[in-house]
Amino acid sequence: MAAPAQIRVLPDAVINQIAAGEVVERPASVLKELVENSIDAGASRIEVEVVDGGRRLVRVRDDGTGMDRDNALLSIERHATSKLRELKDLDSIATMGFRGEALAAIASVSQFTLVTNREGAAAGTEILVFGGRIQDVRDAGAPRGTDIAVRNLFFNVPARRKFLRSAQTEFANIRQAFLLEALANTGIEFALRADDAEVYRLPATEHLLDRIRDLYGVEIAGHLRPIRFGNGVVEIGGYAGVPPCSRLDRELQVVFINGRPSGSPVVNFAIQSAYRDVLQGGRYAPLFLHVDLPADLVDVNVHPAKKEVRFRRPTEVRDVIIEAIRLAVAGPEAGRGRRDESPREAARPHVYPPVAVSATPPASPAPAPMAVTQPRLDWTPPPVPPAEPEAGAPSAPWAEYRLMGRVGGMYVVLETADGLVLMDSRSAHERVIYERLLGAMEKGNVPAQGLLPPVTVAVTPAQAAALRKHLDLLKEMGFGVAEFGSDTFLVDALPVWVAGVAPGPLLSDIADGLMQGGRTSAKDWVQPLIASIAGKQAVGLQRELNDAELNALIRDLARTEMPYTSPRGKPTVILLSTRELNRKFGRE
Ligand code: ADP
Ligand code: MG
Repeated sequence: MAAPAQIRVLPDAVINQIAAGEVVERPASVLKELVENSIDAGASRIEVEVVDGGRRLVRVRDDGTGMDRDNALLSIERHATSKLRELKDLDSIATMGFRGEALAAIASVSQFTLVTNREGAAAGTEILVFGGRIQDVRDAGAPRGTDIAVRNLFFNVPARRKFLRSAQTEFANIRQAFLLEALANTGIEFALRADDAEVYRLPATEHLLDRIRDLYGVEIAGHLRPIRFGNGVVEIGGYAGVPPCSRLDRELQVVFINGRPSGSPVVNFAIQSAYRDVLQGGRYAPLFLHVDLPADLVDVNVHPAKKEVRFRRPTEVRDVIIEAIRLAVAGPEAGRGRRDESPREAARPHVYPPVAVSATPPASPAPAPMAVTQPRLDWTPPPVPPAEPEAGAPSAPWAEYRLMGRVGGMYVVLETADGLVLMDSRSAHERVIYERLLGAMEKGNVPAQGLLPPVTVAVTPAQAAALRKHLDLLKEMGFGVAEFGSDTFLVDALPVWVAGVAPGPLLSDIADGLMQGGRTSAKDWVQPLIASIAGKQAVGLQRELNDAELNALIRDLARTEMPYTSPRGKPTVILLSTRELNRKFGRE
């Protein structure tokens, strides 16, 4: 383990460079600062204890390097830090803390005890601080590491103490902060105790998925797919939830930028875009996203508590994230070959988790793959041979099946090698039509519908500039648009899926989309439109389908990129494995 660096006092110039702000807001921010210091100190075990939602006590113990007496005294001085020496260091910050003000700030608004010891030292040091005043400094027998207890936060600042919420709410914040650190640092053993009860004990592990399972359970871990994609500069990893597994809040969406729990509007935008056509609006899939890129492409100095970063090349980051999540959600086949498996996760087999929302948790932590690449021996060849899947297309688990019948007019029952598949024929149709239209758009041969007479549309100068820059994209999308002089455009054809929409507002909306997010977001923007057209067309097909038509639909669905949900996020199929049936019938 590295020897502890010497603590220095920051020069003024650096201080001024650092965005001013309060570090300590509530007990959870104390936890975050203390835990991140422990991580920086090379701890392999971190134990957190809170009382009364952290209002009475937040205590963090680690087995890191510890501090000698001088450094311990210096650590509670403002702008004392061992982690930053010069202005240029600000551009390549690799440690968690760097302002050198957290301990000083915390000690000035609490009853603060620090006990610390270095490896091989004769005695440790204990320092008692009361509202920023040092009360006592003495020897202490202590194991190697650091133990900091923060009692009665804001006891001497009634105005801030008043703003603390109920113990329950503060504990919810504490827990969230703890979860983020535990997810970001799987190689460290963590424990959380609250009011004398152990809430979590998490053994160290190499695998993020193990930690996710320890924290959230097998059900959620079973609905995740590994994310592995990068462009050589921006590398994306982690796990993405597969729709329809989702929730109404974002609590299970966690983002790490260069290993730190963090976020940025660009990242949120990318996540939303990636899930837009597989999840209903207002629902969020579990997501544990690691974004790694060279330190000089990220500005972490935007937010005082480092909760938000700014990217130097935001559009690149955005596009790589969108692609990474889409590939992960589309299935293990789609992402293959794009990037080498990271050694961290390579030991883990690709798991193709069942998408069915089932009340029974999977029997084992890693549910059996549902792919039909190895059909059972007693399986009779299906009456309809599955179409050759196109290169790179993920094969659906019902690619080999026997059509059993229909239920309630709309639902179709299939038997597969693995069990039973129920398909909603209308949602399936929506998915197929949607991807066909989208594919046509991507190939640039979208069916267009001529406007007679053509119409002229006037837009703002900024909108006009955006449209001019992307005229080729508009053509790809099926628009017949030409410049008509002084920020006016002539529209003589519209893509079929927007036929009937007023061209004026449409064009100005598209221009706004182009200004906000460039090409990618322009495409995202048309997706809901395409989805709604697909929905309308699917309704038109809701007469009873004959077997030949159903077989065609099933084959087409299996070939889509995201066969499990409609473009509006409804399930297309429910898979019931024989194993699950056995369990439900009490045979296991
Ligand atoms: P920063 O983390 O920004 O440097 P802090 O106020 O959080 O500032 O901590 C001040 C200094 O105290 C750190 O730079 C580090 O040298 C030392 N320190 C704090 N916590 C620990 C710990 N748990 N183990 C070892 N050293 C610590
Ligand atoms: Mg710190």
